[in-house]
Amino acid sequence: MDDTEALRVAEAVVERGDLPLLGRDPGETYRMGIMGGTFDPIHNGHLVAAEQAFDDLCLDVVVFMPAGRPAFKQDKRVTSGEDRYAMTLLATSDNPHFLASRFEVDREGITYTADTLEQLSAIYPKNVEFYFITGADAIAEIVTWRDASKIARLAHLVGATRPGYDLAHARAAFEESPYEFDVTYLEVPALAISSSYLRQRVEADQSLRYLTPDQVTGYIHKHHLYGVRPKRYGSSDLEAQDL
Ligand code: ATP
Ligand code: MG
Repeated sequence: MDDTEALRVAEAVVERGDLPLLGRDPGETYRMGIMGGTFDPIHNGHLVAAEQAFDDLCLDVVVFMPAGRPAFKQDKRVTSGEDRYAMTLLATSDNPHFLASRFEVDREGITYTADTLEQLSAIYPKNVEFYFITGADAIAEIVTWRDASKIARLAHLVGATRPGYDLAHARAAFEESPYEFDVTYLEVPALAISSSYLRQRVEADQSLRYLTPDQVTGYIHKHHLYGVRPKRYGSSDLEAQDL
């Protein structure tokens, strides 16, 4: 990358605000992990999968990108992008090689991974490689995603094994696909949890401790997400109960 190109990349990254500055040395290859998802809410399963990918694939950074309008959840109620981004930011803030990005939250329309990868490829120089990390349940579906050929061309795929999921299905899906995907499967410490499960627990007034960072739990309570009832601070009956 010459100086003009380096400046262009730096400007594009600074303009976006929350993307890592990678690719400066043309003699080096840089590896950016991208953890996509709805993150409604983010949980320790997402975090441990991303950390394992970071270690095993020698990534430089993992960028968590909450989808603005998730393509597969159009018929479902999804928490606002702002809340999901805020929780993702809180959950990743104590890890120096994790970043939370508004890249997809700020994009108009339905969120497609191929669009994200295309935009990132336009921002970064060729010596930055993209590693798109998914859980094993999602990875088998990628062959059916919009512009799957573009995804195959622009990114390496990382499939984190999820408890109870048989990888044979994913392997077969890629073998049958007309596109050449580069896929690495990772063994991550088994965490049989999902955002749906966490939402159910909140609804049932059960603890989220050790399933997601405490800051995320704090945010859920403060913003009354997933059916948390507002606390009536200062009301005399509550004070009496608390005593
Ligand atoms: P929901 O239950 O609402 O579908 P989720 O837990 O599956 O939520 P998503 O935001 O849909 O979370 O998933 C984002 C990505 O994280 C997907 O690729 C998914 O496969 C992966 N993922 C989710 N939970 C785990 C887990 N426990 N271990 C590894 N990967 C996971
Ligand atoms: Mg899911």
